Amino acid sequence: MIRTELIQQIRNYFTLEELACPHTVAYFGSRAWGFFRQDYLETLLFIRRHFGVPMYCNVEGHRQRGTRCNLCKIVAAEEKPYVSAHVLWCAGDFTFSGFTAEEIRSEIKGIEHLLPYPIRLEKNVSWVHLDTSAYCQTGEITEFEV
Ligand SMILES: [Zn+2]
Ligand SMILES: [Zn+2]
Repeated sequence: MIRTELIQQIRNYFTLEELACPHTVAYFGSRAWGFFRQDYLETLLFIRRHFGVPMYCNVEGHRQRGTRCNLCKIVAAEEKPYVSAHVLWCAGDFTFSGFTAEEIRSEIKGIEHLLPYPIRLEKNVSWVHLDTSAYCQTGEITEFEV
């Protein structure tokens, strides 16, 4: 999908503040839309439309569920190299209205052949971590545990 069109479509469902940390939003403003990876935005749009219910990233005081920068506490506290998909602008931790995280993961596994890009899902957490940093992995869905 053409980049500008994609961002326009995504903005029907998400604000920048929901998907990115407050530091980058404050510093870069709407230019920060340009940092997201294309495969992530396309996957997000696909998932949002597939389920057809609100899905929340940074909500109710959460600030580090979307992209993270060097000023974010989770990143600043790391002593080893930190290249989480959250800092590569291709990850988010989501809550879906009306579904548990487990229900969403199981549904996504059932439609893996429809996904526009390979994704990674985090196992056994109460939120739905989804990212598109699955290169060099086999299959449409790679599950991981932290
Ligand atoms: Zn930050
Ligand atoms: Zn995550």
